[in-house]
Amino acid sequence: MDKWEFFRDYVRERMNRDKFSISVSSVVELADCQVKSLLMSSNNPYGGAPNKAAILGTLCHNMADLHYSDNDDIDSLWGRAYEKTVEDFREYEDSASIRMLRSNRDWFEIKSKMRYLKAFVPWAEKEGVPVYTEKKLQVGYVTGRVDRLDLMPNGLGYLVTDYKFSTRSPKGRILERYKLQLAGYAYLTRQNGIDVRKARIVTFLNASHREYVFDGDELEDYVEDFEGLVEMAHEVYQTLLCGGKPEFGGLDCRTCWRKDICKILRG
Ligand code: SF4
Repeated sequence: MDKWEFFRDYVRERMNRDKFSISVSSVVELADCQVKSLLMSSNNPYGGAPNKAAILGTLCHNMADLHYSDNDDIDSLWGRAYEKTVEDFREYEDSASIRMLRSNRDWFEIKSKMRYLKAFVPWAEKEGVPVYTEKKLQVGYVTGRVDRLDLMPNGLGYLVTDYKFSTRSPKGRILERYKLQLAGYAYLTRQNGIDVRKARIVTFLNASHREYVFDGDELEDYVEDFEGLVEMAHEVYQTLLCGGKPEFGGLDCRTCWRKDICKILRG
């Protein structure tokens, strides 16, 4: 059995049950590395360490989501966000992340409360109530969770927002990737009948925030690029199902959180 047989079975089995999906982030990853994209969207048999930063990010997103629906104190809001995060990882059958969440519960509690209270709360109070937050959308087999949707003043269409809870300001290729990801959310939202005209990344950096807004031709170009990657995803999965293999990237091998598994697949 070649090393990719497990992935073929996984994809086939999910397709047969109409459960096959690829996240917007996995689609974006295709621009750099097909293998990493596949590892992001499949429950792989080679294990690998869970991504602590991704877990912390999910916790912060869940706190931000509950912000508008929960008037409870910070401790009970955090407790609810924690349970929701466990459910999120269970949904993706990622028990390694759940184990990490449980064994580092105190660390996650301190870090996520700090990021939520210091940067998100003052910003959210000024912004007012959105149309929705953390909404799951699907088009074909592309899925994504849209962090926030707002109606723009004077009926000028809708604004889609992606939150990034980070300690660093994104630049260069990272910012490009974030924009492409956000274009993916704009694509999903539009395909669900909503007239998105503007897109915005908001990074919550320690006690401050920064906004990156794009619209007009720039937004259209990114959405077009994203649509190209959706086509590429179709080809990559067809190739895999027909016995072929995905291609190894990429520009980010040094920092890739799947490099240990990648070594096994290359070997
Ligand atoms: S280590 Fe490099 S080639 Fe391997 S999955 Fe990561 S980005 Fe792709």
